[in-house]
Amino acid sequence: MSPSTAELKERVCDYIDEIAPQLLQISHTIHANPEISFAEFESMKLLADTAEAFGYAVQRGVAGLETAFMAVSARTQGPTIAFIAEYDALPGLGHACGHNIIGTAATGAALAMQAIRHEVPGTIKLIGTPAEEGGGGKVIMAEYGVFDDLDAAMMIHPGTKAMTTRTTLASNKVKFEFFGKSAHAAAIPELGINALDACIQTYNNINALRQHLRPDVRIHGIITHGGDAANVVPAYAAALFSVRAADSDYSFEVLEKVIRCAEAGALAAGATMKYEHSMHYAQRLANPTLARLFGENIGSLGEDVQEPAPGEKMGSSDMGNVSQIVPSIHPYVTIAPPGTGGHTPEFAQASISSWGDQALIRSAKAMAMTAVDLMTQPQLMQQAKDEFSDMVDFDAPWRKRRFFHK
Ligand SMILES: [Zn+2]
Ligand SMILES: [Zn+2]
Repeated sequence: MSPSTAELKERVCDYIDEIAPQLLQISHTIHANPEISFAEFESMKLLADTAEAFGYAVQRGVAGLETAFMAVSARTQGPTIAFIAEYDALPGLGHACGHNIIGTAATGAALAMQAIRHEVPGTIKLIGTPAEEGGGGKVIMAEYGVFDDLDAAMMIHPGTKAMTTRTTLASNKVKFEFFGKSAHAAAIPELGINALDACIQTYNNINALRQHLRPDVRIHGIITHGGDAANVVPAYAAALFSVRAADSDYSFEVLEKVIRCAEAGALAAGATMKYEHSMHYAQRLANPTLARLFGENIGSLGEDVQEPAPGEKMGSSDMGNVSQIVPSIHPYVTIAPPGTGGHTPEFAQASISSWGDQALIRSAKAMAMTAVDLMTQPQLMQQAKDEFSDMVDFDAPWRKRRFFHK
């Protein structure tokens, strides 16, 4: 008789306990050698080599990204479940977002599923996705179709409150450049065209725009170049803005308005304007069945899972784009007390603390347990897919856009 779901869950948990020292060593090694977006060579090698050593077929370099990898363990007919690994750090701050935990937990779950590969149907993939912090590795990989053949995708993210259903804002990044004409600012200003004026008008136009936007919108930006000398009319100015909203289509609608603000700023100053819309992170959906299963599984290991508070603060993530292609979850696990902000030195410290280590092990177990649920109970997999079809607007205009190449 084949083992029950409960027995298989116990086995993956026991297995992860067995390899825990090795997993923690991997996590701490990645943490000690932080590598930023698209330069995660050693971190990627460590995770990919580990998966290979445990019998995964590994492809290094995916979707034209050198630091992406794909590890596959194919079994018999059945669902294809992916664990998503991130392993990029932040410039100057190291692993202040705890991606060492994300990458290692995903790898741990994959190794545990390998230990029961003869007992469950389907395929496990461990997908290494670089450059979450700004480079949008998953956006690029999504456009290459890397996630198309999956039935479910899951990853975890360290935080200060365990939540399975928190979503994110859709987000666009846009860079504006203004071109004017330099002139002596005192002697012949009438011959100059002030690119900084165009830039500041843009900034102010956007501030005026805010009042007429939905409350879920977030627009924030900086002026990255404002001139070179006070006595020279600036011939060049530049600014960077993030334009976010609850859903992708509205975020694009707002982006169009923001671009008009820049056009108007340039027009007023007599300057010319160029913009570059570099990347779109889609709104992240939490699949209810996957979220419930993961919540029950990690809850059974002692994690106190909570609902997001009304008006819970949100950022954006390239997992959003994955969640629009396949039933996905991106739950948060607790590694530090409330009030410890992400992207801080305190959070970097928490990412190798004993609390962080424990969260890593729990997360690896809960992801493997959730995969066991989906592989042994086809009705749950189907339920997740039905929910996905209900949640996603496949005809939404934004889905036809391509973001990283024009
Ligand atoms: Zn981050
Ligand atoms: Zn992060």
